[in-house]
Amino acid sequence: MSAVHDLLIVGSGPSGLTAALYAGRANLAPVLFEGIAAGGQLMLTTEVENFPGFPDGILGPELMMKFREQAGRFGTEFVTADVDRVDFSARPFGVWVGDTEYRARSVIVSTGASARMLGLESEARLLGHGVSTCATCDGFFFRDKPLGIVGGGDSAIEEALFLTKFATKVVVIHRRDGLRASKIMQDRAFANEKIEFRWNSEVADIVGDHAVEHVVLRDTVTGDTSTLDVQGLFVTIGHDPNTALFTGQLDLDADGYIVTVPGSTRTSVEGVFAAGDVQDHVYRQAITAAGSGCMAAIEAERWLAHADHHARTGA
Ligand code: NAP
Repeated sequence: MSAVHDLLIVGSGPSGLTAALYAGRANLAPVLFEGIAAGGQLMLTTEVENFPGFPDGILGPELMMKFREQAGRFGTEFVTADVDRVDFSARPFGVWVGDTEYRARSVIVSTGASARMLGLESEARLLGHGVSTCATCDGFFFRDKPLGIVGGGDSAIEEALFLTKFATKVVVIHRRDGLRASKIMQDRAFANEKIEFRWNSEVADIVGDHAVEHVVLRDTVTGDTSTLDVQGLFVTIGHDPNTALFTGQLDLDADGYIVTVPGSTRTSVEGVFAAGDVQDHVYRQAITAAGSGCMAAIEAERWLAHADHHARTGA
């Protein structure tokens, strides 16, 4: 069997890298699988203005480089590959990259979540340049501009309400003629004079080279197209937690998020912890993800110390 590590960390967004920083400083010599697309969702943003400590803001990818550098300073070993398989049913736990096996006494899962996207070429090209998946992060950049928001769930309506603080108007673009959002959120949206609705509509294209100039809508009933003059588009059609690897290994909730004991990062398997967006569908912020990464490292460290004590004394 390969060497048994104290701690493996799967995922390299704010939660995984913060867990690595704390675990490294606790002499746990963590091995962190950062994946091919390292850095998490902040790699898809431009300016980040709400991460404390950066009063002038910082670019998302630059912030993640700093996270990585700081984790590396304290002895984190990075594996730049995606994990293909895990086995949490036996100890030490197993993690595989291709045929290479890693064994560890504890694991922190921090694989994050991915915002669902529409799948348009123009959407990918303008992401971070007028197209965003996070109103809390980017709303501030759209002061006094007309905005569009795609989706009809609680997130879309909550973010539409938030965006009315900045925008001249917010147009909710929904593919059906009724919202999925809860009644109370609907009532608030309908009562807000800055919010308009385009029912039975989907985004056919987003027009602009380096910024959003306008959006082309397609009527889902008639197929007719029309132009909507907005200078920003928020795509808020839900998130998918990156938990395919853990199905059958850890308890997941109905939406696929890892279930953790309230107030902790403990999962259904003792010695396996989960931090960040993979277990949080409420806050989803870099700072809260980082905070829960810190919690996971502290909990893993205490759990390992307890296990050592137990092995020595039998108590
Ligand atoms: P959601 O409830 O799954 O809603 C996603 C919305 O996006 C739906 O309206 C859906 O349309 C639409 N949609 C999905 N795929 C689409 C596509 N390809 N093109 C166009 N539209 C598409 O997701 P969510 O709003 O992120 O909410 C997730 C969970 O968190 C929910 O349980 C929600 O209640 C909860 N939440 C609660 C609050 C709160 O209570 N304050 C706030 C945020 C989220 P259809 O309606 O046609 O399916």
